[in-house]
Amino acid sequence: MKKFLAIVLALVMVLSFTACGADKKEAAQETSGVKTVQAGKLIMGTSAAFPPYEFISDEDGETVVGIDAEIAELIATELGLELQIEDMEFSSIISAVQSGKIDVGLAGMTVTEERLKNVNFSTSYAQGVQVVIVPEGSTKVTSLDDLPNVMIGVQESTTGHIYCEGDFGADHLIAYANSTLCVQALKNGDVDCVVIDNQPALAHVSKNEGLKILDSAYTVEDYAAAFSKDNTELLDAFNKVLEEKIADGSIQKILDKYISAN
Ligand code: GLN
Repeated sequence: MKKFLAIVLALVMVLSFTACGADKKEAAQETSGVKTVQAGKLIMGTSAAFPPYEFISDEDGETVVGIDAEIAELIATELGLELQIEDMEFSSIISAVQSGKIDVGLAGMTVTEERLKNVNFSTSYAQGVQVVIVPEGSTKVTSLDDLPNVMIGVQESTTGHIYCEGDFGADHLIAYANSTLCVQALKNGDVDCVVIDNQPALAHVSKNEGLKILDSAYTVEDYAAAFSKDNTELLDAFNKVLEEKIADGSIQKILDKYISAN
């Protein structure tokens, strides 16, 4: 009898180990009807140097906060998922979505035809405008007409980078990993202006004396969340909640919290 019990116990152990292994291998698991990279979690990739959409909290120096973090939290909660934010370079977000490292890229990301070849985008939740930051009193850059003749700082792989490269050529650009580094370069005189989205531009200009934004804007674009082409169920579930939250004014409330009316 003892021997029999020992064999049964051993069998049960072997079986449960195998089950565990199978579970782990199946990275994408079911939670509240949607598959995510890790069961029960919504892993968001962002680049936390893009205020007020994403930035590191002044309070603890490590938490990623901002418009995108709040929108993701709102939607994750509705989907019964725990939000986990991974901070990375902007240029890595799309490949992290594609390779299944993260569930969603939420980073003030503009919808473009090129990106749509690699990821699906959610309904748009905000608009961005590419603007030009210059040193106050700059004589080199007084309008968009001066851009072909100067050195422009851009954020690597962003629309500002892509459009400026198309319009003025790579020789006129220096690409930095994020907006903070762009602004630093402008202050150091390494570039004559910075082309970047309007809200981070405003945030940087208010924090750094001696900089201003040119009146005319370069382009207007739509921001949306990026999802893997392999997980349309998650995109649909996200969109359903997002659209409800746009309709009931919750998204606007989050935008207003970070963006003042002027
Ligand atoms: N909106 C720009 C883009 O999508 C910049 C985004 C960012 O730097 N976080 O390329």
